[in-house]
Amino acid sequence: MKTPSLSHLVSLFSACPLFQQVDAEKMQRILELFTTHSLESGCLLLTPDQPNDYLYLIIEGQLSVHLSYISTPPIGFISAGEYTGEVSLLDQQHPSAFVVANQASTVMRLHRRYLQQVYEITPVIQHNLLTALCERIRSGNNSLIYSEHNAHIDSLTKLPNRRWLDYAFQREQQNSTENKQPLCMIMLDVDHFKDYNDQHGHLAGDAVLQFISQQLREQLRPNDSLARFGGEEFVILLPNLSLPEAEQVAERLRSCLATLSHIPNSLPILPSVTISLGVAEFSPDDELTCLLHKADKALYQAKQQGRNRVCVYNLQ
Ligand code: GH3
Ligand code: MG
Ligand code: MG
Repeated sequence: MKTPSLSHLVSLFSACPLFQQVDAEKMQRILELFTTHSLESGCLLLTPDQPNDYLYLIIEGQLSVHLSYISTPPIGFISAGEYTGEVSLLDQQHPSAFVVANQASTVMRLHRRYLQQVYEITPVIQHNLLTALCERIRSGNNSLIYSEHNAHIDSLTKLPNRRWLDYAFQREQQNSTENKQPLCMIMLDVDHFKDYNDQHGHLAGDAVLQFISQQLREQLRPNDSLARFGGEEFVILLPNLSLPEAEQVAERLRSCLATLSHIPNSLPILPSVTISLGVAEFSPDDELTCLLHKADKALYQAKQQGRNRVCVYNLQ
C-alpha cells in the first residue's frame, strides 16, 4: 500500500469540517499522528457490538452506514475526505451503527490516546468536533433510526420485515446470477401456534417468537438474510448454498428447536415449539413471488406430512 503524501492529505481534507480553521502546518502535524490502513471490500470498521477507540479519516474508497445489520439497506455513505467514529470515540459508548467498506478503501485512524495531543496542536479541533456532534444530532440521526426501523424492522423480533425482503432478494438474485452461484430460500412456520397462544397467552407467544428469532439468527451465517415474513412465519435467503445444503441448514434449525423441552430463561417456564420448513432453490428469472411460492408449497407439504419437518420443493 502506498502511503499518500502529507500534502495530498492536507488538500484532501481541506474541506473536511473537522479541519475547518486549522492551517496546513497544524493539519500536517495532526495527520502525522494517524496510521494508514487498507480495507478490503466488506471489511467491518465499526459495529454496535464492539467499543471503538479510533477516529477514522477516509482517504479513498467508500464506507456505508447500516443501522441494524450490514445486510439492511445503507442509510448513508462516507467518502474520501470525510471522517467517522467520532461519536463513539468521544463518548466511549459502542457505535450506534455498522460502518463497512463497500469497496476496497484506504483509511487513516487515530487512537483515542492521541486526542489530547491533537487538542494541544490546536484546540480548534475540539470546537470542530463539538460542532459536528451538534450537527449530527440536529440532522436527525434519531429520525433516521426511527424511520428505518419503522420501514424495515419488525418491532417485536427486531428482525427485518417482509418489505426488506424485496431489497435483500434483489441483491441476492443479482449476486447469484452474476456469480453463477446457487441461492436457496427457507420458509418456516411455527406449528400449532394458535393453540400455543390459546394455552399460554399472547404474551407468551410473543416471547416465543422473540426466542425463535434469536435462535434462527444465531444459527445462520452473517450473510444469510432472515426476515419475519408475517405472524409466525419467517423467510431466509441462503446465498451460495445448493438445495441439499440448504436442506441441511433447515434440518439444523428444526432440530435446534425440537430438541428443547422448554424456552430457556422463560418465567413461568414455557414449553418449546416446533417449526415446519419448506426449502426451494432460485432458478434464473425467478421473481421473489415465484421463489416464495415454491418455498411455501414445500412448507405446505411439511405441514401436511405432520409438521416438525423439512420438505424440499421439487419440480414435478
Ligand atoms: P399450523 O401448524 O398449521 O401453522 O397452525 P397454526 O396454529 O400455527 O396456524 P394459524 O395460521 O391457524 O395460526 C397462527 C397463529 O399465530 C395465530 C396468531 O394469533 C398467531 N400469531 C401471529 N402473529 C403473532 C404475534 O405477533 N404474537 C403472537 N403471540 N401470536 C401471533
Ligand atoms: Mg402461519
Ligand atoms: Mg403456524
